[in-house]
Amino acid sequence: MNILIFGPNGSGKGTQGAIVQEKYNTAHIESGAIFRQNIGGGTELGKKAKEYIDRGDLVPDDITIPMILDRLKEDDCKDGWLLDGFPRNKVQAETLAKALSDANIKLDYVIEIVLPRDVAKIRITGRRLCENDNNHPNHIAFDAIKPVEKDGEIVCRVCGGALSARADDQDEDAVDKRHDIYYDENTGTMAAVNFFKALGGDTKVIAIDGGPSIGEVTENIMAAL
Ligand code: AMP
Repeated sequence: MNILIFGPNGSGKGTQGAIVQEKYNTAHIESGAIFRQNIGGGTELGKKAKEYIDRGDLVPDDITIPMILDRLKEDDCKDGWLLDGFPRNKVQAETLAKALSDANIKLDYVIEIVLPRDVAKIRITGRRLCENDNNHPNHIAFDAIKPVEKDGEIVCRVCGGALSARADDQDEDAVDKRHDIYYDENTGTMAAVNFFKALGGDTKVIAIDGGPSIGEVTENIMAAL
């Protein structure tokens, strides 16, 4: 099963992606997480990507596209993948579609989590990342997924791991820029979504309202797959 998942930052895309990935037991490829690993590891790629990420800009295509296309060629992707965070613009979408078609690889599903921009923005600033798993849902503003307190520290509600906030989630300009890119229907991520909607063929496109609770959104995605 090969799946693309789209959704603005703050839509729960990472959380839902992790659940879908587990159900189908595919590789979970998150472009943002690959960048963050490289930044943490001090690699050349990480050094190049950091300034763009801190500003909320896209990392240039000549870095991002080969990074993802190479990742898709790794062994763990042979039995399927869920791609999260890529493509993020129209050029990436067109390049991915061509690479898949050239390699005779079918794209089974495109999942779009739909959420208005103002709601997505409120959700972003309160989310917290678990050191053990980025996709453990923790949000200081939502009771259902509020982090828990342990020894005076606020820790992950799933595993008790240490929590941190992403720097680019706390910078309003960076959040706005990421949303400018996401909601841009001309060249941005919505242009990539619309490209796949228009592509037709065997790929099934599913649009899911990201407004309800995590559990309900999961149920709606599972029912549609
Ligand atoms: P995310 O974790 O998906 O929010 O990604 C964090 C940041 O990584 C983004 O704001 C971009 O700077 C960068 N990034 C992630 N995916 C891509 C992509 N497909 N193209 C360019 N930059 C990306």
